[in-house]
Amino acid sequence: DNAQPKKPSWIRVKAPTSEGYKETREILKANKLVTVCEEAGCPNVGECWSHGHATMMIMGEICTRGCSFCNVATGRPDALDVFEPGRVAHAVETLGLKHVVITSVDRDDLEDGGAEHFAQTIRAVRHRAPATTIEVLTPDFLKCSPKALEIVVEAQPDVFNHNLETVPGLYPSVRPGARYFHSLRLLQRVKELDPRMFTKSGIMVGLGETREAVLQIMDDMRAADIDFLTIGQYLQPTPKHHAVDRFVTPEEFSDYEKAAYGKGFGMVSATPLTRSSYHAGEDFARLRAA
Ligand code: SF4
Ligand code: SF4
Repeated sequence: DNAQPKKPSWIRVKAPTSEGYKETREILKANKLVTVCEEAGCPNVGECWSHGHATMMIMGEICTRGCSFCNVATGRPDALDVFEPGRVAHAVETLGLKHVVITSVDRDDLEDGGAEHFAQTIRAVRHRAPATTIEVLTPDFLKCSPKALEIVVEAQPDVFNHNLETVPGLYPSVRPGARYFHSLRLLQRVKELDPRMFTKSGIMVGLGETREAVLQIMDDMRAADIDFLTIGQYLQPTPKHHAVDRFVTPEEFSDYEKAAYGKGFGMVSATPLTRSSYHAGEDFARLRAA
């Protein structure tokens, strides 16, 4: 860790203090919900939560994988909580969200990878908050039958998001346990199952990838018909996690954004603080209106 580059001025994190932030925190706590915002120590939490925008993490706080960038605990997860979909729906209704992002830990211990639990959560939110658009950010269902993905798609989220996270060459050190082309193919299958569903994926940069490899990922994503791309700076959650190779400059991010639009993405978010769920609602509304 001692070789870590110093955080540049453009990675600024404001301490969360607003009333909106506190209210969001209370509602989430009252519904016993876990958020990726807190689990990942996301730098945008002050801003997002002041608008009630939080990314719910379902199926527990323990993941069966151990990605080297991720702060979620690895181990044997708890049994699924059948009341969780209802609590998510209640929180979405209480927060009055226009758009909600629902993600989860990876559940390699479950035969369907948690697909049915995802589907129940989508249906519960639809029922209680019919005007809210729903984005799911799913695991890769690597060890499941193809049916698992179909179960989630049939529940009709508005946006299907699954992150490729990094360039294929870095998978062994960043995302062991996942397979690049499996993840890419997953998103392509979503489009094949429902051509009207918006698909989305994201990567982190600053992990040691080259610009060429990032441009290649964009081509791969477009070949898989992915609509929406997010690119953000990787930040190391603790010294035990994958090292930051470097801080990508705001100019390089704009260059990536331009390149991605040139390749035909309908929506691109590429800034140092972009996260998969950052401004997800506004961006989706713009994409849908386009
Ligand atoms: Fe949460 Fe996403 Fe906002 Fe971060 S960017 S605080 S993870 S909603
Ligand atoms: Fe974290 Fe997801 Fe990897 Fe699990 S699968 S360790 S939650 S990034």
